[in-house]
Amino acid sequence: MSTFRLEIVTPERKVYEQDIDMVIVEGVEGQLGILPHHIPLLTALRIGPLRIKKDGTEEEVAVGGGFMEVRKDKVVILAETAELPEDIDIDRAEEARRRAERYLLHPDEHDQVRAEMALQRAINRIKVGSHRHG
Ligand code: ATP
Repeated sequence: MSTFRLEIVTPERKVYEQDIDMVIVEGVEGQLGILPHHIPLLTALRIGPLRIKKDGTEEEVAVGGGFMEVRKDKVVILAETAELPEDIDIDRAEEARRRAERYLLHPDEHDQVRAEMALQRAINRIKVGSHRHG
């Protein structure tokens, strides 16, 4: 089966670079599965899990929004933040979730969207981080 190169980078670091079989992302217009030889494409990504299929296994990465660029030779994910399951600190994400939930009980208009995004990032990390053992 043919493969393609997937790179996941954040402003801070390269998180992932491997030859893979398929990647499934949460695009702003819905879920998108990319196989080898996909046509070039640029799309914005939501906060959500990214799923990587490789050698009959599936791996998840917690992505905090960004862009996906499908090029001829590879797929590049430019993520605001991205963590592999083993790098996720679940206690920190639980604390971030509680903080955002507390805030959203009495939001001030100005920061409501920010708190909602923080809540989504935390929930995404908790989900991806708890799948680390399969
Ligand atoms: P917190 O309030 O806990 O800082 P946050 O959602 O505001 O969470 P971000 O601004 O999205 O954090 O990320 C800042 C940096 O911290 C990024 O490098 C991100 O990968 C990392 N990060 C955030 N939360 C976690 C976590 N629970 N485990 C591991 N890394 C994390």
